[in-house]
Amino acid sequence: MKEAFIWCYPWDLEEEGLDSSLARISGELGLDAISVAATHGDIAELRSRYIAPNHSFVTTSGVAFQPDAGRYSGSRIRPHAAPWLKSRNPLARIAEAAERHRLALRLNMVCNDMPAIVQRHPHAACVNVFGNASGRWMCPSNPDAREFLAALVEDLSANYPARTIELEAFAFSPRRLVDYHASRQPDDDTARALMSWCFCAACRQRARDAGIDADALVANIRERIIRQTEAPAAPTTSFDAYLAEQPQVAAFIRLRAETIASLVETLRTRARKRLILHHSPMAQREGIEPSLLDSHCDGWITTPPSTVSRAQLTGIDMGRREAAFFCWPPMCKDGPALVSAVHEASQAGCLAVGFAHYGAAPLASLEWIRQAVRYARREAY
Ligand SMILES: [Zn+2]
Repeated sequence: MKEAFIWCYPWDLEEEGLDSSLARISGELGLDAISVAATHGDIAELRSRYIAPNHSFVTTSGVAFQPDAGRYSGSRIRPHAAPWLKSRNPLARIAEAAERHRLALRLNMVCNDMPAIVQRHPHAACVNVFGNASGRWMCPSNPDAREFLAALVEDLSANYPARTIELEAFAFSPRRLVDYHASRQPDDDTARALMSWCFCAACRQRARDAGIDADALVANIRERIIRQTEAPAAPTTSFDAYLAEQPQVAAFIRLRAETIASLVETLRTRARKRLILHHSPMAQREGIEPSLLDSHCDGWITTPPSTVSRAQLTGIDMGRREAAFFCWPPMCKDGPALVSAVHEASQAGCLAVGFAHYGAAPLASLEWIRQAVRYARREAY
């Protein structure tokens, strides 16, 4: 285990005081790095007592730094500073303070889960099979969205002394793009997957370019969903069985994975930093195919490892994995459970361990983190 880090929101570090919070993370917890949110989705955070004076923090999505405007000229999408930021640039001050406290800086970038962007730039929103746009998810097929993300990683790489950039929500939505009334919303696995897929103009064009009849595909998927709403009690086939019957749908799934792989390849070229990808329990639905992505990144974060099946991690070497942990109940039972999980990850050869997250973790959990990191390091030597 080469690095132990904790995710942090800039507002939590600032409100506690940069020197107090970073001294605690470096000195008391014994961590090597902080991972700071550089862009984030909508947030509603209940905070721990050590962050005074407000117990909650709510904000809409946006970038958490002042963007270098000239870098975004290749896209019609403009970076939207999150409302809490106002005209300040705490990321620059956090970077300086991290250096004083000997903490390496990582930047976490939420890519497509960006309601504020799709509301301002509806042409870049994902669109479901019925033609209804998501109010939340930007489409990773959209050329403007792809160039916007590339400009973001370039801006962060050029202007902040981070060693690592983490990409989160960089693929397609894992959830339905539109929530219809629950009584008319089919809820089997196959329908849930189909209703999360994007059929925006860019996705349809990519499908046509790949030799897929996009109109027939859309008609076929609509029929499958509507049939299910009209006979919800009917036996449903598994998703794998459905794919076996539908070669065009299977081809579309491959296309989605290739779309994400080419996006990550571009982002890595533009980010002149170590690039780490967030894995997800819903990876297949999101178009995340590790075998296509592994050569375009420096490693993977799994959160938390216990909920990600071994099958989903096939193809990811342990030495390229970073294991992340929630550190309070119910996700983590108690201190000994965290010590044991971190030790296991370290012994298995994980590259780094991370903890979610400063400001929300109860004070007692910070002590669990300290013990877990200390024990894993002691046992490693
Ligand atoms: Zn799309």
